[in-house]
Amino acid sequence: MPRKEILKETRRLTEPFVVTNGKGFRLKDFDPRETRGLIEKGEAAQLLERGVRWLAEEQDMLYAQDRWSVLLVFQAMDAAGKDSTIKHVMSGINPQGCYVSSFKVPSKEELEHDFLWRYVKRLPERGCIGIFNRSYYEEVLVVRVHQDILAHQMLPPELVSERIWDERLTEIANFEDYLTRQGTVVLKFFLHVSKEEQKKRFLERLDQPDKNWKFSPSDIHERQYWDDYMAAFEEAIRATASKRAPWFVVPADNKWFTRLVVAAAIVETLERLDLHYPRVDAQKKVGLATARTALLQEKKQGAPSARTRKA
Ligand code: AMP
Ligand code: MG
Repeated sequence: MPRKEILKETRRLTEPFVVTNGKGFRLKDFDPRETRGLIEKGEAAQLLERGVRWLAEEQDMLYAQDRWSVLLVFQAMDAAGKDSTIKHVMSGINPQGCYVSSFKVPSKEELEHDFLWRYVKRLPERGCIGIFNRSYYEEVLVVRVHQDILAHQMLPPELVSERIWDERLTEIANFEDYLTRQGTVVLKFFLHVSKEEQKKRFLERLDQPDKNWKFSPSDIHERQYWDDYMAAFEEAIRATASKRAPWFVVPADNKWFTRLVVAAAIVETLERLDLHYPRVDAQKKVGLATARTALLQEKKQGAPSARTRKA
């Protein structure tokens, strides 16, 4: 299938889920069960395989060109499939140009700094893809839902008011604008799982011994705050969705579909950068020709004679 056709196909997959303007955004307009009429065993597997292969080609050029960097932010409720989506979508990627950062409860040292500090330290360098498994968005999600966490962030009390969430969201939007103007492409994925599907996945974690390790008692606790989390996600997406740094609200009740949409979104974005291998100018061509001649001559001079070989 020609690239143009594949791109049309990827656009069909991403268009319904991309948010580039948060005004009026409502989570309830997005169905976690959506699959765009595809079925897992059919076309979808082939599409994903092609997407992953294409992604690898684009990454190779991104690395060679060394100008753009790509930041992929993954946010979701527990068991929505962040880890497995990252694993599958990035399976064809050269590890040299890609690193994953998973953000957990901040350390004492991290709390001694401004809230963006620990994330800035993990931003991808030019030519590379940085994946944030959780991110600075936690600062307006878990911290907003459990405000006692905020109390431990060591902020001067006079700087903490009702406005702090709006302030943080503005700071995040400005930060992402800044990054994009520095050549970092920012894509944000909210893996949108339903509460029922989360329950099913938690039960699997409890029932299947090889999945037990994934279960944490705090997961059940967090589930009680479901509506608060959804409200926080909604506000975060409203305040930070932009053309430059779009959100993708990816249906996550079917893992195979989640992977497909995420892969399509990344491929499409990289394709739009019109990446290419660095062009070789006339001077460099002369240098290449000289190197070639030198290498070939070395071979002639260095070849062992019949006598030496015998001895
Ligand atoms: P997991 O990703 O399932 O290993 O869990 C990581 C835990 O760290 C989650 O419960 C997050 O809510 C928590 N976490 C991540 N970032 C922050 C943060 N900035 N402040 C407080 N908790 C956080
Ligand atoms: Mg967890």
